[in-house]
This record gives sequence, structure tokens and C-alpha cells, in this order.
Amino acid sequence: MEKGLDRSRQCQEEPQAACEQHGWFIHTELAFDEEKGMYSCPNCGGQVRWKFALPLWKNYTVFSCPVQQIDPEAMFIMRIVFWSEEIGILPFAGGLLDQPNIYFEARNIVMSEKAIVMDEMRENAEKKSKASHQQHDIANQRRPRQRG
Ligand SMILES: [Zn+2]
Repeated sequence: MEKGLDRSRQCQEEPQAACEQHGWFIHTELAFDEEKGMYSCPNCGGQVRWKFALPLWKNYTVFSCPVQQIDPEAMFIMRIVFWSEEIGILPFAGGLLDQPNIYFEARNIVMSEKAIVMDEMRENAEKKSKASHQQHDIANQRRPRQRG
């Protein structure tokens, strides 16, 4: 996922997908099958390969840079909050009580959203590690037992 986000930061363009035979299309040029919920080549109806695809949930994939979808002002506030947390300096001159109330309100929202994302990432990492342990166990079971 983090790799996906890195790639997305470099993606400034419209979502694009390619058909092996007919080349690249912008998402608005693609055919969309509402029953299957899938995009396909407008020329041959074949499968397309997305330039950028970030699967977020089971049936939900983002085809454009998710960072682009964040409001620039919200992005600015997030950067201020993370910067302030990281280096331990308040954004406005003075002490805690000199900070405008709106800063604390914004900070609470940003930090609580961050905590949710961190929890999700931790859960996913645990699931992945459990899954790989299970595979390991299965591999061990399949190995024929040595006869002494
Ligand atoms: Zn095609």
C-alpha cells in the first residue's frame, strides 16, 4: 500500500488503462459494464490494465491519485499538524494557550484519523503475518514425516 501511495504521488494525470491490442485510453473513453462493475476496451470490449490501481477494500479500487482527491487546504492543515507533532513545536507564536482554538480542533481530527489509519495498517500487517504463518504450517504438515 505504501508503495502504491508513492507511485500515486507522481501521478498527476487522468486515470488511464490500456488494452493489449488497442493501447491507452483515458477512463472516460472506456466502456463500463454496470452489471459487472468493470471497465473494458471501447474497441474490443477486452480487459484493460490500469496504469495506477490501488485496491482499498474488497470491491473498491482507486484508479487515480488519492492524494489528488484531498482538498489542498486539508492537505496543508495535515502537513502543519504532522510537522508540529514531529518536531515538537507549536505552529503559532507563544505557548499552548496562545494557539487558536481552531488549531486544536483541526489537530484532533487529523490525529484521530491518523490513529484509525495506523490501526488498519497494523491489523492488515497482523493478518498478513498470520496468513504467512499458516502457509508455513501447511508446508510443514505436507512434508513427509521422517521414519526413524
Ligand atoms: Zn481493445
